Amino acid sequence: MTVLAATPAHADAHMEAGDGLRAAVMEDMPGLIALYQDLHANPELSFQEFETAAKLATRMRALGFEVTEGVGKTGVVAVMRNGDGPTVMLRADMDGLPVIEQTGLPYASKRTAVPATGVETGVMHACGHDTHMAAWIGAAQLLAERKGEWSGTLVMILQPAEEIGEGALAMLQDGLYERFPKPDYVLAFHDAAGAPAGFIGYSKGYALANVDSVDVVIPGIGGHGAYPHTTKDPVVIGSSIVMRLQTLVSREIDPLDSAVVTVGSFQAGSKHNIISDEARLQITVRSYSDETRAHLLDGIERIARGEAIAAGMPEDKLPVVTVQDPYTPSTYNTPEFTEQVMAGLQDRFGGRIREVPSVMGGEDFGQFYRADPENVESLIFWVGGVPMAEWEASQRGETELPSLHSPFWVPDAPVVIATATEALAAATLDLMPKDEAGG
Ligand SMILES: [Zn+2]
Ligand SMILES: [Zn+2]
Repeated sequence: MTVLAATPAHADAHMEAGDGLRAAVMEDMPGLIALYQDLHANPELSFQEFETAAKLATRMRALGFEVTEGVGKTGVVAVMRNGDGPTVMLRADMDGLPVIEQTGLPYASKRTAVPATGVETGVMHACGHDTHMAAWIGAAQLLAERKGEWSGTLVMILQPAEEIGEGALAMLQDGLYERFPKPDYVLAFHDAAGAPAGFIGYSKGYALANVDSVDVVIPGIGGHGAYPHTTKDPVVIGSSIVMRLQTLVSREIDPLDSAVVTVGSFQAGSKHNIISDEARLQITVRSYSDETRAHLLDGIERIARGEAIAAGMPEDKLPVVTVQDPYTPSTYNTPEFTEQVMAGLQDRFGGRIREVPSVMGGEDFGQFYRADPENVESLIFWVGGVPMAEWEASQRGETELPSLHSPFWVPDAPVVIATATEALAAATLDLMPKDEAGG
């Protein structure tokens, strides 16, 4: 099949696992690619995934799932009850980004929409959530066809608003674990812009970070730039805060722990010779554990107040620190479950599976584990998306690769979708074996 010409066949051409799953995926690929191109051309922003949800809900009903729409605003829950056994939940996220696509693809998005900021923008599936949905449908088709080969309950969810970190929580707060069968295992994948197409990467334990957005408003006492002694300069106070924040990670956090404090925005003033009466910082804070997160957030408050006091600001004009709520919590891959799933995939993907370092990016998938860490096993893995020729050129230093969220990101969609469809279906079948005796 031509769409699959780029499959990293050299890595595992002879590794078909004997269950015919790969051949079945190949047969479904033309339909899945058509779906992918349609989703890619028609992206929708966070919590605006109305057409996407409706389109995929219709497909799931046709496959025999009980489908509920509007869970957590635009989320979809599709359930297939198939006898005794565990409950497995597969999740795909639906939202695109406020990015003007520049890939030049024939099915590039020309859509526009209005995000929460109120300013109309182009919309693009620049994070690859379209590949997630196509593979999710691919897995649903295989598991529906092979209903005789597994026993248990399959819960397949389409999550809205991953990009703003709110969709998973919205579904949970709308009763995902009360109104529908609660999962023993939750699984998802994300395409990766830093790995060759068709490679599977996983991390045990923390895989993605806590993400906090922090705003600091620093009052000053404004005045003429030529008479600084009559003012309290918030640019100088803000600068001291920015520099002192650099010591939070370097001097206060265990060097073997991971954390980031980045001041992404520093705004103050309007003119050369006016000392402003206010400065504002926007900070992104990354961590893995709850303890480190609390230490960093407390530290920002302490440093902001301390520097203002050192500058002589009065008690009623100290900086105000606001931490955005909700935040995106870190994503934890339960280690034994991760090992079990990856061991199960070894036979079919062999040399294509790698354990990879965790990253400081964020994903709200971790919410599904956090909602009941005693009883839920959880794993999100990466499926590499960089076309092999581009990957090799980048390894030779001949080209820079676009990252996720870039207007130029073009994953090798056929390979990502084929790999992820097979991996999700195979892992699910492994988790829900048909009991010989019980039938
Ligand atoms: Zn993203
Ligand atoms: Zn994403």
